[in-house]
Amino acid sequence: MRIDLHAHSNVSDGTETPAGVMASAARAGLDAVALTDHDSTAGWAEAAAAAVECGVALVPGMEVSCRTDEGISVHLLSYLHDPTHPGLLEEITKAKDSRLTRAEHMVMLLAEDYPLTWDDVIHHVAPGATLGRPHIADALVAAGVVEDRSEAFASILTSRSRYFIPHYAPDPATAVELVCAAGGVPVFAHPVASARGRIVGERTYREMIDAGLAGLEIDHRDNPEEGRSFLRRLAARHHLLVTGSSDYHGTGKPNLLGENVTSPEVLARIEALGTGSAVIRP
Ligand code: AMP
Ligand code: FE
Ligand code: FE
Ligand code: ZN
Repeated sequence: MRIDLHAHSNVSDGTETPAGVMASAARAGLDAVALTDHDSTAGWAEAAAAAVECGVALVPGMEVSCRTDEGISVHLLSYLHDPTHPGLLEEITKAKDSRLTRAEHMVMLLAEDYPLTWDDVIHHVAPGATLGRPHIADALVAAGVVEDRSEAFASILTSRSRYFIPHYAPDPATAVELVCAAGGVPVFAHPVASARGRIVGERTYREMIDAGLAGLEIDHRDNPEEGRSFLRRLAARHHLLVTGSSDYHGTGKPNLLGENVTSPEVLARIEALGTGSAVIRP
């Protein structure tokens, strides 16, 4: 069994439609894939229909943007939650709305130095999609400023750049509570991805675990090896589930479906814990 629990479609910053992600999962030889778009479940229905056609099981999921009181970005994967839960829906809607204002602000700053307009950015966003820096990166690629998204993130768009503006995001422990309240299973995404920006310390882990954190995404290309050993010890000590996933974004990132996988036992535990929605099996 090959199971990949982290993939994005163009409902957020992936480059393929939800059905396209399912087709790619079939080509990659996966038995199950989770669709985990940023702050949105809008792709679930299309992916569920495609799951049946492609012969790949769909684990409905989402990646919730969070930020600590110290301003550190945290991504929280949620599996099998109820997409209509009002409390969770309210937070992701606030984050999504704030992502729009924040992107407008960033484009305003960038336009002072680069040939970039708001229309250039919107051109790369599917209707209703969760807007992110990758869409700004796409516009910078189209303008010939950078070669690809990775180059944009390594320079102009890093969280340390003077063009970077944060967006609203709930506190990680609050997000864990909301995911649990919505019947979902909360897993900390790429917790030690230090190349992306600052990573959280012990207090945030403690708060998230106390709030009901179920697992850690340890096998992810952005987690350096020394961080993984720390995470494995933490998982053992607190009986947390351990997942491995690709964080596929279509052609938007080099990450390939199935480059990291999660064990069938862990997926079974996730299914036993998640009560807000169900895995769609072909
Ligand atoms: P945002 O949520 O708008 O602040 O943008 C962060 C998103 O950009 C993350 O969810 C990643 O998917 C994406 N991202 C981060 N680093 C890179 C990179 N080097 N290349 C492509 N996409 C990236
Ligand atoms: Fe992303
Ligand atoms: Fe992420
Ligand atoms: Zn992701």
